[in-house]
Amino acid sequence: MKKGRYLIAAAIITVLLALGFFVLSQGKIVFNLEDNQQYSFEYGQDVTLPEVKAEYQQVFGLLTRPIENITKSGEITGETGEYEIVWTAETHGKKKDLRMKVSIVDTTPPEIAVYGAGELEVELGKIYEDEGCYAQDIHDGNITAQVVVSGNVDYTKEGTYEIVYSVTDSSGNQAKAVRKITVKKDKSASNKKGGVVYLTFDDGPSALTGKLLKILDKYNVKVTFFVTGNREEYRKYIKEASEKGHTIALHSYTHNYSKCYSSLEDYWIDLNKLNDMVYELTGKRATLVRLPGGSSNTVSKKYCIGVMKQICSSLTENGYRYTDWNVSSGDAGGTEDPAKIAENVIRGMKNHKTAIVLQHDTKGYSIEAVERIIVWGLANGYTFKAMTDGSPVVHHSIRN
Ligand code: ZN
Repeated sequence: MKKGRYLIAAAIITVLLALGFFVLSQGKIVFNLEDNQQYSFEYGQDVTLPEVKAEYQQVFGLLTRPIENITKSGEITGETGEYEIVWTAETHGKKKDLRMKVSIVDTTPPEIAVYGAGELEVELGKIYEDEGCYAQDIHDGNITAQVVVSGNVDYTKEGTYEIVYSVTDSSGNQAKAVRKITVKKDKSASNKKGGVVYLTFDDGPSALTGKLLKILDKYNVKVTFFVTGNREEYRKYIKEASEKGHTIALHSYTHNYSKCYSSLEDYWIDLNKLNDMVYELTGKRATLVRLPGGSSNTVSKKYCIGVMKQICSSLTENGYRYTDWNVSSGDAGGTEDPAKIAENVIRGMKNHKTAIVLQHDTKGYSIEAVERIIVWGLANGYTFKAMTDGSPVVHHSIRN
């Protein structure tokens, strides 16, 4: 019987030991955080993830031991995007992962601000040259080049206008800035109506004529072009200008004094060639003429004494009219500053009830002055017209 008891006791102990080992071997790794949690951080801010801890739990959680061996894989570069960090705890020959989903997002709108005043008053007829704005984004850096400007200011009419500058960063965040412009009549300005202005452009067409036509379109202003036969590639502008209602008039085919002023006959050869070209482009022959250098030029003396007198009479006898100008813009050597050119023309407009203005559509700085001239003129009651058969002409005194 004694032996039997020992056997039973041994069996019980064996079972208990086996049970104990079994229970102990059932230990598990438990993290302090939930798996697959999403963590979101704003771009540019510190990425601070919660501390990861793990313990090894045994005997139904009654026995716990912290795990020191936790390794991390995956890297967050700081750039916007989705990342995964995996923490691995290892103990007792067991392994467990904890995954963290991390996203770096950019929800910060760019900063945008106007240069100069955000609100300003502009005198009627004067153009405010936009000082622009700057835009800076926390993620994209300087994005001023991406700014879209909208809104129109009519400097010829009193009113309050808004120019809106908007920008969108690469994450789609938008920002905008506004400049408020009030166009107001100067109280000291007189109310008297302005006169008639004939803007005329010599020596073209050129690469700049297209730009000029766009400005004229914007204000529906018609002008007169005294064209040449030079620069064949831009003759399309003669056709375009004519179709848009501008007047095409004759300057010189060659604009070469030694050719067109060497004799009356040579003058007519040059002019007829030009008029043939104009006819081909516009379907109309022109009768309005401006002489290279003006009718008062003396350079022609070098090629033929008395030729200007002969030409002017001959033109009239043959049914042509020639015109000089009574307002010089100064763009033929006087100045290359658009502001000064506009100032010269505006002064001339004030001084002449009928102004015939000389400009050249071969000079970029002169084209740049045109909008200021038109805006000031329209705001002050002037009428811009293209020269026609019936319009007035001015003659300088002939000196050769
Ligand atoms: Zn000329």
